[in-house]
Amino acid sequence: MGTKLHIGLDLDNTIIDFDEAFGAAGVETGLLAPGHALATKEQVKAHLRSGPDGDTTWMRLQGQVYGRYIGMARLFEGVGDFLKTARGHGARISIVSHKTRHGHFDPDRINLWEAARDWLEGQGFFAADGFDLDPGDVHFCETRARKIERIGETGCRAFVDDLAEVLNDPSFPSNVARIWFAPHQSADAGNGLTPHRSWAEIAAAMATEF
Ligand SMILES: [Mg+2]
Repeated sequence: MGTKLHIGLDLDNTIIDFDEAFGAAGVETGLLAPGHALATKEQVKAHLRSGPDGDTTWMRLQGQVYGRYIGMARLFEGVGDFLKTARGHGARISIVSHKTRHGHFDPDRINLWEAARDWLEGQGFFAADGFDLDPGDVHFCETRARKIERIGETGCRAFVDDLAEVLNDPSFPSNVARIWFAPHQSADAGNGLTPHRSWAEIAAAMATEF
């Protein structure tokens, strides 16, 4: 094989599984009553947004989960195996994330980019005996438009994202294969994209590329 495969990955809800973090962090911060600790992200979102000032409360909790409470989030099941396989074949991995530098309404002004980098480091993303990514291949972008531009700049050949809106954006680079990670979404939400229900499905779909 000549050119090494270069794969781009989204971060939030693609690599990082926040599903169990929202309920737990919501209770911890007092934004949710104790009975909601085990609620999923979608359940928490629906519950908070139905209340007074719901959108603001939801954004406030997001700012906390992506910052102070990011330690409650897990590596998505199957990501580790995928990365081991990809890196074992010499593939380069870039991460391109749309994330504001600070969480909305966060009085402590936690730097979400640093929190995410620390989380990745803690999961072995930059360790030689871990996934061994180059820290310079992790990019944070303030806007979705900048993220899409950045995906093109990395030179990756395929990009994995949970948001169909990103992959279907008219400015998404046409020479990058679009891989939709959709563990929970209905297939219609992809507007023609093929849903991959798990990282094992993504690994199988990409196996011929390695
Ligand atoms: Mg995402």
